[in-house]
Amino acid sequence: MEVPKEIFLKDYKLPDYYFDTVDLSFSLGEETTIVCAKISVVPRVDGVAAPLVLDGIDLKLISIKISGNELEEGYYHLDARHLILKAPPSGSFILETITEVLQKNSSFEGLYKSSGNFCTQCEAEGFRKITYFQDRPDIMAKYTCHIEADKSLYPVLLSNGNLIEQGDLEGGKHFAVWEDPFKKPCYLFALVVGQLESRDDTFTTYSGREVALRIWTSPQDLPKTEHAMYSLKAAMKWDEDVFGREYDLDLFNIVVVPDFLGAMENKSLNIFNSKLVLASPETASDANYAAILGVIGHEYFHNWTGNRVTCRDWFQLSLKEGLTVFRDQEFSSDLGSRTVKRIGDVSKLRTYQFSRDAGPMAHPVRPHSYIKVDNFYTSTVYEKGAEVVRMYKTLLGNEGFRKGTDLYFERHDGQAVTCEDFFAAMRDANNVDFANFLLWYSQAGTPIVKVTSSYNVESRTFSLKFSQTVPPTPGQHLKEPMFIPVAMGLLDSSGKDMPLSSFYQDGKLVSITSGAQHVYTTVLRVTKGEEEFVFHDLDEKPIPSLLRGYSAPIRLHSDLTENDLFFLLAHDSDGFNRWEAGQILARKLMLNQVVNFQKDEKLVLDPQFVHGIKCILLDSSLDKEFISKAITLPGEGEIMDMMEVADPDAVHVVQSFIRKQLALELKQEFINKVKENRSSGKYKFDHVNMARRALKNTTLGYLACLEDEEMSELVLNEYKSATNMTDQFSALAAIAQKPGKAREDALADFYNKWQHDFLVVNKWLSLQSASDIPGNVENVKKLLDHPSFDLTNANKMFSIIGGFCASYVNFHAKDGSGYKFVGEFVLQLDKLNPQMASGVVSSFSRWKRYDDTRQNLAKAQLEMIMSANGLSKNVYEIVLKSLV
Ligand code: ZN
Repeated sequence: MEVPKEIFLKDYKLPDYYFDTVDLSFSLGEETTIVCAKISVVPRVDGVAAPLVLDGIDLKLISIKISGNELEEGYYHLDARHLILKAPPSGSFILETITEVLQKNSSFEGLYKSSGNFCTQCEAEGFRKITYFQDRPDIMAKYTCHIEADKSLYPVLLSNGNLIEQGDLEGGKHFAVWEDPFKKPCYLFALVVGQLESRDDTFTTYSGREVALRIWTSPQDLPKTEHAMYSLKAAMKWDEDVFGREYDLDLFNIVVVPDFLGAMENKSLNIFNSKLVLASPETASDANYAAILGVIGHEYFHNWTGNRVTCRDWFQLSLKEGLTVFRDQEFSSDLGSRTVKRIGDVSKLRTYQFSRDAGPMAHPVRPHSYIKVDNFYTSTVYEKGAEVVRMYKTLLGNEGFRKGTDLYFERHDGQAVTCEDFFAAMRDANNVDFANFLLWYSQAGTPIVKVTSSYNVESRTFSLKFSQTVPPTPGQHLKEPMFIPVAMGLLDSSGKDMPLSSFYQDGKLVSITSGAQHVYTTVLRVTKGEEEFVFHDLDEKPIPSLLRGYSAPIRLHSDLTENDLFFLLAHDSDGFNRWEAGQILARKLMLNQVVNFQKDEKLVLDPQFVHGIKCILLDSSLDKEFISKAITLPGEGEIMDMMEVADPDAVHVVQSFIRKQLALELKQEFINKVKENRSSGKYKFDHVNMARRALKNTTLGYLACLEDEEMSELVLNEYKSATNMTDQFSALAAIAQKPGKAREDALADFYNKWQHDFLVVNKWLSLQSASDIPGNVENVKKLLDHPSFDLTNANKMFSIIGGFCASYVNFHAKDGSGYKFVGEFVLQLDKLNPQMASGVVSSFSRWKRYDDTRQNLAKAQLEMIMSANGLSKNVYEIVLKSLV
């Protein structure tokens, strides 16, 4: 295999040519699709006739013309990935190509067929599978798209922008012409052609324009698009209210495609995986409903953050993704509970991003290099990127942040820009000095911040000493201190917030001003390796509440005692930190028991911890979804991250032990919560009802751990009497925790009920594949032969393999059975879909965290994959980096 080339940020060069207009014409057929492209080419610098290099993959060139004249062979060069015009005319010219597109395409890139319909996926580099083009985001052009296809097979013809013409043609064909008035990079181009019907609605923008909204899907699924339409309208309104962003066209389309990777923000023609659009109370869970709201919002918000203002190159991916994730997080917060949303987002960040940042795949929010950009659609670019955006807001406040985004849109509308441009807009709009904030884009690794506190009775001062380090990551051994905003407050002995007016930072007085109002939370700017902050005039020793709302993506180690943490758990006015105090206690407790287990000592559960959980459970002033989060133990991955050598078996035993022990000791309280919070009446997707269901189902999950006939019956009854998918599936999951007949029966019953609905079947598949029951690899192998499974369907694939890799005990089974199964699977999958395969193979990347036996077994699989013939660049890059 030729060794794939690494591409570097520092090598970025402006293009030699810009494209002004792009007229595409598609003739879609069963055997072949012909694409004619007419591009007006403008040299960047007049008179410089550099070669014009066009990207193109799996295309057959039929003809090429320059300004109307057929080009002879010697004037261009073709290879497997390019079409190069050696000496284009000087000055502007028209380039016309006719190409035939490869129809057999399982990569979900370029033009492909899904369930009988044609659709496209061009981000990041799929447009080159449609026509020869400068496939890079800094080439922004105005597009028209002419589509021609058989009318009975493909009644609907969609592309970006406005429909300007349509009509019938000879031979049972018809056509449509779309025109997009906004300049865009080619990765936002889309075409959808097929048998679809739409749910229609309208939205009136704040300037009074009426926008037609359409969600396209197969006719039988139309009833399931109601929640998506609600979400879209809510998103449009929210973006006007919060960011002052109005939608800019008269039409907005969303298309549902059964096998699609995630969702995509193509200009005015968003394309979504079914599970991110379709929902009904009977078939979708609260988590699905929430995901739909968030992702519909996310793709819609890209219209301004990504489309109107786009990325100069793919290294800047977080410019659009980090910002847009931040926006969708805020949107969901505003529509639900801010604290609960924050808890969920931080858990996700810590589970996926922190673990990536600590391994061989660590990379900065803005990577310095890549082999395949597809491999950089990561939690670092997305979720850590969103944290970086959140920090601007924390530092500048709501108004300052809004001034910054206003300036960003004003300066850069219609441009392809960089992360520095966003930074500069924030800085200039607020006239502030951000010191080394830009390091968040270039330095990988999760900063570790230590805090020690001390109270001096005589001087009535309270000091917080911070020290920070950033661990080395691949290619970055020495790190500089980061700019870390630490939101914090001080609690008095009654648990109330103390008013804050000023503090000393390294001896200098910093005043906290906010008119006449008292301030209870302030943001410390920690920017040095070591730094001290001193609060004064304090009559008693305060308990500090640090990193409120998780104001920076760091690992914080404070010297708070267990008593302090229990105190914060009971009293902190910051909901996030209240939850966090409980989590820190739980992590410590779990880690201690892991040590006990490894020493063959008896496992014990600290009564003070049980008491803390009980108090939270019984506190009727608390939000029920908050309670459900607060009584949930940290994930196994979080505990393993704290260990020298990760021991999945020990962590699993300890987690099961604590869950069971809590269930034993709080059995009656849990039963009461189940009874008090049963669903009544019609399913409603609102916070109050979701919170009830969350609390009921979390407590039910605990009760199902018990070896107790009566409880088994209770859980089974909840399953049978459920009137919505949230309750039904939670009860099923509760039953499925333990192997045995009850499990088998419930799983079979569920399948019989839902076999006609593939989204529900996917849930059923992933519940089983992610199971921690011993030796589950054999069950998963059987599932691959199940009639409902289809390797080429992205949803199903991820349901099974993604699920399996999420079970630490089974993927990392000490006999190597999990590694072997996944290793072989990767090779099979890579032939069909490299992007999916590289996602799966990433599960191996932290193999060095485990004991020698596991290390050898995992490494053997990586080496086996590396030695395979015809490996994709995607998988090659991940395996290469994992083996270093
Ligand atoms: Zn996005």
